[in-house]
Amino acid sequence: MTDRSTSPVWHPFTQHAVQGEMPTIVRGEGAWLEGADGRRIFDAIASWWVVTHGHCHPQIMAAIKAQADRLDQVIFAGFTHPPAEELARLLVDMTPPELSYVFFSDSGSTSVEVGLKMALGYWRHSGEPRRRILALEGAYHGDTIGGMSVGERGIFNAPYEPLLFDVSRLPFPHAGREQDTLAALEKACRDEAVAALIVEPLILGAGGMLIYPPWVLTEMARICAAHGVLLIADEVMTGWGRTGTLFACEQAGVAPDIACYSKGLTGGSLPLAVTLCRAEIFDAHYSQDRRKTFFHSSSYTANPIACAAALANVRIWQSEPVLERTAALAAAQTRGLDRFRDDRRFTNARQIGTIAALDLVVGDAGYLADIGPRLYARFLARGLLLRPLGNTIYLMPPYCSTADEIAAVYDAIGEVAGEV
Ligand SMILES: *Cc1c(COP(=O)(O)O)cnc(C)c1O
Repeated sequence: MTDRSTSPVWHPFTQHAVQGEMPTIVRGEGAWLEGADGRRIFDAIASWWVVTHGHCHPQIMAAIKAQADRLDQVIFAGFTHPPAEELARLLVDMTPPELSYVFFSDSGSTSVEVGLKMALGYWRHSGEPRRRILALEGAYHGDTIGGMSVGERGIFNAPYEPLLFDVSRLPFPHAGREQDTLAALEKACRDEAVAALIVEPLILGAGGMLIYPPWVLTEMARICAAHGVLLIADEVMTGWGRTGTLFACEQAGVAPDIACYSKGLTGGSLPLAVTLCRAEIFDAHYSQDRRKTFFHSSSYTANPIACAAALANVRIWQSEPVLERTAALAAAQTRGLDRFRDDRRFTNARQIGTIAALDLVVGDAGYLADIGPRLYARFLARGLLLRPLGNTIYLMPPYCSTADEIAAVYDAIGEVAGEV
């Protein structure tokens, strides 16, 4: 038990006054974590959505060790290094041809901040005063001030409200009401000087694993293009195979103007993020006038060891049948969900690629309802890392998870639902 009498660590998204036992993890392998006490925990949420191929993947670990022997860190302004150059080229090759420049940062949140700054810089340097940002209701784009501003407002950011900038919200495209979203987008593009629309493509993650169809994204992209509005795709969660394709935008045939990738970029081994953009956006900042410089950096921008880990990840994608693995995982998820489709204890069974979710029917839903922590504790007691969003139970496992392991998670979901 970790409490304030024994540890000085202040954990993220953790209310220490009610936090129960906190396992100390000393080892990770594949889809499994191992505690200091020797217990094994199945990582059914990929350690907060970051681990793709599995923990401590041998090729990624080897690349990290090799790079650590050569170059640990170097300033990235005025200097460059091979892992970043090579990675940037590969990323440009793997993404839509329209995306031709790569800006490095350290986390999903910073990749979003960079995307927003790129969009506003583009309009300012192009001499057109567009400043309005559009976002989807229920969105999550990170916990920095810009990320919170474009994300859903609520208990998570209420104390910081005075710092958050105003954005226009589009209703989430719920099934049957997609036209409301598209109509709101059309209207905003006509009525306001819209700089950009930021979206999580095909699925809202932290907002409750809410899925919408590719055609809606296609239409949103079309409307944006018709009005010259930049489309920012926040693929921080959806990227690197989660939704069944390398990137979610592929399913909609959409090439965003700006794309943010982070979580699976290093296979989940080290923090790194990139924001890719179209040449027009780079070009708007390209000038003999130094005032048009893109003024953004963080100390560890494009850290060589993190870039080497990302390169190893990309090589795994290039040389191994990763999409076959994600398809097999997706099939295992479908079989698991199917067991509960007619089960009245659950509702809204849904899936996109490797991500599956279902809602437990309870009186008090919502993130702060005590059902979330109660489920969490019961799953943990069974050796499962599942972290429900309120009454929404979701699985987002590493791609090395076996069909039997996934089936066992669904066994546990059925048992736990019977207990609570
Ligand atoms: C996790 C997440 C972020 C923030 O990423 P961090 O690395 O936690 O800063 C941003 N956008 C989406 C869609 C995410 O899921």
